Amino acid sequence: MATTAVHGYRQYIGGEWTDAAEGGTFDVKDPFTGETVATAPAGGADDAARAIDAAQAAFQAWAATPPAVRQGIFLKAADVLESRSHEIVAALARETGATFGFGMFQMHFVPGLFRQAAALPYQPIGTVIPSDTGAFSMGVRKPVGVVAAIAPWNAALILSARSIAAPLALGNTVVLKPSELSPWAGGLLWGEIFAEAGLPEGVLNIVTHAPGAAGPIGEAFTSHPAVRRINFTGSTATGRRLAEAAGKNLKRVVLELGGYNPLIVLADAEVEYAVNAAAFGAFLHQGQICMSARKVLVERPIADEFTRRLADKAKTLKAGDPKEHDTIIGPLINADAVAMVKGRVDEAVAKGAKVLAGGDAVGNCYQATVVTDVPADSELATHETFGPVLAVEVVDSADEAVARANATSYGLAAGIITSDVDGGLALAQQVEAGIVHVNDQPVGDEPQMPFGGVKDSGWGRFGGQAAIDEFTELRWVTVQSGSHPFPF
Ligand code: ADP
Repeated sequence: MATTAVHGYRQYIGGEWTDAAEGGTFDVKDPFTGETVATAPAGGADDAARAIDAAQAAFQAWAATPPAVRQGIFLKAADVLESRSHEIVAALARETGATFGFGMFQMHFVPGLFRQAAALPYQPIGTVIPSDTGAFSMGVRKPVGVVAAIAPWNAALILSARSIAAPLALGNTVVLKPSELSPWAGGLLWGEIFAEAGLPEGVLNIVTHAPGAAGPIGEAFTSHPAVRRINFTGSTATGRRLAEAAGKNLKRVVLELGGYNPLIVLADAEVEYAVNAAAFGAFLHQGQICMSARKVLVERPIADEFTRRLADKAKTLKAGDPKEHDTIIGPLINADAVAMVKGRVDEAVAKGAKVLAGGDAVGNCYQATVVTDVPADSELATHETFGPVLAVEVVDSADEAVARANATSYGLAAGIITSDVDGGLALAQQVEAGIVHVNDQPVGDEPQMPFGGVKDSGWGRFGGQAAIDEFTELRWVTVQSGSHPFPF
């Protein structure tokens, strides 16, 4: 029996709440109970085209809207969002299995993101560049037009909000496609919030789709001439396909993809701090964060103590209903995810890995798991595994730690724990990652930071100045004050 009302959501296109063009809907499930908590429109190519057209129609007026008005909308959106925080944290648990702690973290982040975005309309938009011709020469940043945003389900609130905030604040119009697993908390919610905040019709549009049916919407984004930028947060495999299709049509893409994030623990680290950092980095949101720590590279002198205490700590983390505030390990997003994590751990164990904590699922919750001796050819060692599984490897030097940290196709985030800050900073220069934290674990973000990866973890950066570069076009404009001596 359902314990919550089943909402019937609609898409948000051109300022109107609408059903899918073909009329279908799909069920949104609670990952912990398996109950249907909502239905959402099963949109497709026609819905995407309508949304892009609405965004294109709204672009000129929005780009010309005074900065004070754009700023006011973002400040109001932050306030409206905060006024709904209890409802939203509950929805994050219901749609995405986020624990209370992770829900609150997201609820704290996004109002800050919007308040920082509120300053973007007043950022300087250009430079004056000395010219040898006597012309008054400028580099001027202009909004690009329609930005398509594709967001994932895992940190649904943050990752969907950042996919629209800077693009909108900078004067672009947006079509957002949330994940089919979080159509409201990672998408349609923004239609409600920004409509209340006074965003004009058509400036933000949101299309939803049934599981497995993202393709036609992605195809509309990559092929419609009005779409001038695409931002994508999700898996490397999907990002690669999207970038190939966008490349064919010469569209720029910002890609924030997967990671296989190392945490290096040097022999001079304080063990208790390192254990707490490793557990937080690996197990927050059940390890379903692109920045989650996937392996710890610990120096031999402290390896035994560190590993034993980490395993002991992992065993104490309460797994279960994310709606109970003391739960640390909520459910994985669905049964397929549980089967995938279980399959990878079981395969590693069959090849010789040892499980020191966890190693099994209870319902859709996979226990906080610590493994050692993971064979280099196992899937756990080679693939990002979106679950609470942390591999420990013992190393004999900092150089070996860096070499092993870099032995992956990914390069998103890394952490280095040491009591020698100078040495940690020097080591940070050698790690191949877009983000490196000394004396912290890999999971962390602030709206103003240049967030993104290298190698198979993506291209481009969200956040701060980087977002201005990504979501505006730089135009060279000159004014000749005298007459130009043309040679013919
Ligand atoms: P994850 O495994 O984290 O869900 P995905 O890359 O599958 O990662 O999903 C991230 C986002 O990409 C989701 O919004 C999903 O619907 C979307 N997506 C999946 N396939 C495609 C596609 N072919 N075109 C566009 N978006 C897609």
